[in-house]
Amino acid sequence: MATVGYHASFEKTTKLLRFIISSQEYQEIVARNAIEENVQKLPYYVLARCPLCGAPYGGYIDNYSLYKWRSIRPHYGWVFGYETIECDHFTGVQSFLNLNGNFPTEINYLDCECGDIPIVMPELLLDEFHAGAVIHSLPICRVEDDAFTPRYSLYTVTYYSDAPWSARDRSYQLCHPDGVGEDAGPIPLFYSSERIIWEPVVGDLPYWVERGKLHWLDLDDPALPLKSGPANDFPYAGIQGFGGSYIYRKRPKPRWRWLDRHWHPDGEIRGYPLNELLARPSW
Ligand SMILES: [Zn+2]
Repeated sequence: MATVGYHASFEKTTKLLRFIISSQEYQEIVARNAIEENVQKLPYYVLARCPLCGAPYGGYIDNYSLYKWRSIRPHYGWVFGYETIECDHFTGVQSFLNLNGNFPTEINYLDCECGDIPIVMPELLLDEFHAGAVIHSLPICRVEDDAFTPRYSLYTVTYYSDAPWSARDRSYQLCHPDGVGEDAGPIPLFYSSERIIWEPVVGDLPYWVERGKLHWLDLDDPALPLKSGPANDFPYAGIQGFGGSYIYRKRPKPRWRWLDRHWHPDGEIRGYPLNELLARPSW
């Protein structure tokens, strides 16, 4: 596995961090499993601005730790669940969680079906829908020596268009060509990072910037205005990672070590399906 470090944008995104409570208070809330009752103690972050009308999109997001990020699916139209949609152009949002080469040993399990390298869905960016997307990134911390320490990167790609339902239909059909049964749950709008393998252009973010389809929030300005160019200023080119869905997990120690030579107390990271080992601690 390639050891992945921090992308150049990471340091700038750490300047966005806001801490409303102490790490001690946060850990008490986590111990009581009471994040939902304490949403107001989470920082509010802007995630995107509509390229069509300028309306912001944001919400209360727990980036104090990975505690609430243990299952990241490509199905949903929300990031953390407490965002406010301010305009009718909002079409959908996809999250990607990049571990930046870290092992999240503070948790036991993390299922990131969305993958770690942000991609765009061309089906949601068609000219006929006057569609555009906005990428943004926030660090996610872990508590180290009683301090919130930024370690991971959450990337969000938020889609807008003047015909959100039509744009979504296009993406639904692509992701579920056989139709979706009533019991299938939320309908997927998105593919994981893995789509890069058979369609590299979806991961070529500067290409979409140059085409005027991908925008970003200016990390150099505390007001986070929407930027659409020049492509040279685009801060998210060349993000590295596993490039697909992954699962981090710790497992009980096997009774006989030779039964599982990959076992490590700090866990391992596997792709889908689980027989593909992506990374394990080298210490
Ligand atoms: Zn709008």
